[in-house]
Amino acid sequence: MGPPGSGKGTQAKRLAERYRVMHLSTGDMLRAEIASRHALGRSAQGYMDRGDLVPDGLILDMIRSRLQEIPEDGGFILDGFPRTVAQAEELDGLLNGLHLPLERAVLIEVSDAQIKIRLSGRARLEGRSDDTDEVIDRRLDVYRRQTEPLIALYEKRGLLSRVKGEAPVESVFAELEHLRTE
Ligand code: ADP
Repeated sequence: MGPPGSGKGTQAKRLAERYRVMHLSTGDMLRAEIASRHALGRSAQGYMDRGDLVPDGLILDMIRSRLQEIPEDGGFILDGFPRTVAQAEELDGLLNGLHLPLERAVLIEVSDAQIKIRLSGRARLEGRSDDTDEVIDRRLDVYRRQTEPLIALYEKRGLLSRVKGEAPVESVFAELEHLRTE
């Protein structure tokens, strides 16, 4: 977990490569659905362009089949999912059914000021349509209201670790590797 632009995607991808586990990013899946002009992508695009969350039902339809691809003895990294309390509850049921334990939830912490600087830089470099100033504010607001409640939920279950996301990419990665061996 972490606000938009906190580096979740970058770190999740590196961790997945390092430990050879599946990287499941709902944001990447949605962008692929849009690029391939699938119906699911068409339904999701408007929400994403506005900075809103895509409805839980769509996300769950999309992730359910991907979770089934995780090998029995394999690991997995979820990136950008769950993002709502309803998604987290649904995830518990899905993972139970697959006998896959959730070992840790990581929160990457970055200040709002830093987020704004990073995302407007990304807009120029990558041209992501949801990285404009107005949409960035909306995504931050949505994160605070809909995703932050998950922090307490995973904290209560003793699964939460916090890392400081303003450090260089390499240092954040080193901190994440360290968590694994704690
Ligand atoms: P970021 O974390 O920078 O916002 P993502 O690629 O994770 O980037 O997400 C981009 C957009 O995709 C979100 O703003 C949202 O509209 C949609 N999205 C991704 N994951 C989810 C999810 N689990 N639930 C609802 N919407 C999602």
